Amino acid sequence: MVDVIIVGAGFAGAVSANLLATRHNKKVLVIEKRAHIGGNCYDEIDENGILIHRYGPHLFHTSSKEVWEYLSEFTQWQPYEHKVLAHIDGKNAPIPFNLNTLYQLFPQEYARVLEEKLLKNYQINTKIPILELKKSSDKDLQELANFIYEKIFVNYTAKQWGLKPEELESSVTARVPIFIGRDNRYFNDIFQAVPKEGYTKLFENLLDHPNIQVETNVDFKKHFSIKEDAIGFKNDFTCKVIYTGAIDELFNFRFGELPYRSVDMCFETVDKPYFQEATTINYPNDHAFTRITEFKHIHPITTQKTTILKEYPQAHIPHQTIPYYPIFTDENQMRYKQYADYVKNFQNIVLLGRLAEYKYYDMDDIVEKVLETII
Ligand code: UDP
Repeated sequence: MVDVIIVGAGFAGAVSANLLATRHNKKVLVIEKRAHIGGNCYDEIDENGILIHRYGPHLFHTSSKEVWEYLSEFTQWQPYEHKVLAHIDGKNAPIPFNLNTLYQLFPQEYARVLEEKLLKNYQINTKIPILELKKSSDKDLQELANFIYEKIFVNYTAKQWGLKPEELESSVTARVPIFIGRDNRYFNDIFQAVPKEGYTKLFENLLDHPNIQVETNVDFKKHFSIKEDAIGFKNDFTCKVIYTGAIDELFNFRFGELPYRSVDMCFETVDKPYFQEATTINYPNDHAFTRITEFKHIHPITTQKTTILKEYPQAHIPHQTIPYYPIFTDENQMRYKQYADYVKNFQNIVLLGRLAEYKYYDMDDIVEKVLETII
């Protein structure tokens, strides 16, 4: 018999399983519809001998000591600070846009004027969302904001979401703010690293416990279905369910499809030791893909070939593509609320994770959420 069924073996599911098994001595069954654990964090060694992230680059960063210490029980870390360049007007310049970017993209005299104005209007080492900078009353800063908006945000966001930056909840573009300083790193959290032996190994360790049973290639419908206001279990189960998948799918789309964004991940082998100068180069204005990631920069290895990934965002089609991102618009939030309210009729279902809670969680955010939920 099991005490809890957990649907999904990504961070939300695997950390839930681990805590229930180790801290609460519960018997847990984790069911995962893909052939592997780890959700979209899954990584593997490819045919070039390079550790790749099959579902796009995952760079761990957190300022939570609790999250860091908890995960450190299951992995050793390799220090890694992510750096991203954006291809703008034929140049590769650091983003988040910062004072170094300013001097790379503008004539030095004008860059100096802009730097002075930025420092007069904002505190050094602070982050300003692009939609905030656009509200500046200073004419030069207005011009700078328009430049950044046009060259970095508007076309990238159109590719990534099919929307204008203003149509999305402001926190989405605020993830990549303008940085009033000279730090070229993509994140400035206290802890930044990747699991030394990869994410998949970290997940294996999280799930390696006598109280945890994992079934891959299994759809939740094998074990239960939703019947009006109750869960109909197929076996003799009468247990709790932690559901981490797409919430509209759980309820058979009763309030309509909840849009998620998907990405077509296209890997290529390049016949030279290195392809590009940084791990990730964003292409806001060129090509149909948003960015190219070269995995060798994350886990360095000496090989004659290299593996790169081009990401082509696309609409998610249930049962056909993989959902990656909730799409943060007012309309979608309202639809999500219908589902979230409906779940309240079920005493034994808990929703956790990016897809089930329709939230743009980073990896550390969801680990923190699970640590707070399963106490
Ligand atoms: N963004 C952009 N241009 C960039 C990088 C980011 O317009 O060069 C916007 C875009 O809307 C994107 C959001 O900022 O979806 C968040 O970017 P982030 O890199 O955090 O996305 P993730 O790594 O989660 O895919």
